[in-house]
Amino acid sequence: MLKIDLSGRKAIVTGGSRGIGRAIAVTLADCGADVAVLYAHNKEAAEETAKMIKEKGRNVIAVKCNVANEDDVQKTVEDIVKEFGKIDILVNNAGITKDGLIMRMEGPDWDKVLETNLKGAFLMTKYSLKYMIKNRFGRIINISSIVGIIGNVGQANYVSSKAGLIGLTKATAIEYSSRNITANAIAPGFIDTDMTKKLSEKVKEQFLQKVLKRVPGKPEDVANVVAFLASPLASYITGTTILVDGGLSLG
Ligand code: NAP
Repeated sequence: MLKIDLSGRKAIVTGGSRGIGRAIAVTLADCGADVAVLYAHNKEAAEETAKMIKEKGRNVIAVKCNVANEDDVQKTVEDIVKEFGKIDILVNNAGITKDGLIMRMEGPDWDKVLETNLKGAFLMTKYSLKYMIKNRFGRIINISSIVGIIGNVGQANYVSSKAGLIGLTKATAIEYSSRNITANAIAPGFIDTDMTKKLSEKVKEQFLQKVLKRVPGKPEDVANVVAFLASPLASYITGTTILVDGGLSLG
C-alpha cells in the first residue's frame, strides 16, 4: 500500500496557529514528522495546534516569530535547530491580506503584505537552507494562491506577493536542486478559513460560482498536497506549482 511516511523528519510551518497552516502542521505530524509551529500574534491558537500534534505522539514546539523580521527569523531557525537538530521540511504558509483598489491602496498596506507574504518566505528559506545543505536534504513548500496566477480585483499587493512566491519557488529549485533540495508551490483557490470568512457575502458568492463543485475547499485539501510534496513520493517534482482550487481557475 502506498503510504506517506515522514518519520524522523523535522518540519517548520509558518502561520501554523490557524487555518491552512494548522492543518498542514497536524497532517505532517500525522505522517510522522516533528513540527515547529510558528505564529505571529495568536499564542493560544498556536498552543492548540501544538496540543493536537502532541496527541499524535510527535514532538512539537510553538514559537512566536514575525517572518517579516530578519533578526526574528534568524534566531527562530537557530532555536529550532538546537531543539530538533536539523530542518528537513519548510512550509512557508504565513500570509495576510490588506485589500483595496490600486488607486486607493496606501504604500504601507502594499509593504506590509509584500513583507509578510514574500519577504517572509525569502527570509525563512535563506536561513533554513544552511541546515538543509548541511544535511543534503530539503523540501521547501511555498503556499501561494490561485490569484497569483489569474489575478484579482482589489488585491494588487496580495496578488503580487503570491506571483512573487511562484518566482521564488523556481529560483530556489534551480539554485539548490544539486543539494537534494526541492522547492514547490501550492496555489489554493477558495479555502474556508479566517482569511476568507472576512470577505463579503457577495465576493464569497462570486468565488464559489467559479468553483466547479460550488463548495469551498478545506484546509486539509491543501495539507494533503503538502504532505505529498514533502514525502519521497515527490522527490522528482521541483520548481512547479500545484493548483488546489476545485477548478476555480477554469471558471
Ligand atoms: P489565516 O487563517 O488568516 O492564518 C494566517 C496565518 O498566518 C496565521 O497563523 C497567522 O498567525 C500567520 N501570520 C500572519 N502574519 C504573520 C507574520 N508576520 N509572521 C508569522 N506568521 C504570520 O490564513 P489561511 O487562510 O489559513 O491562509 C494560509 C496561507 O494560505 C496564506 O499564505 C494565504 O495567503 C494562503 N491562501 C489562502 C487561501 C484561502 O482561501 N484561505 C487561498 C489561497 C492562499 P497568527 O495566528 O499568530 O496571527
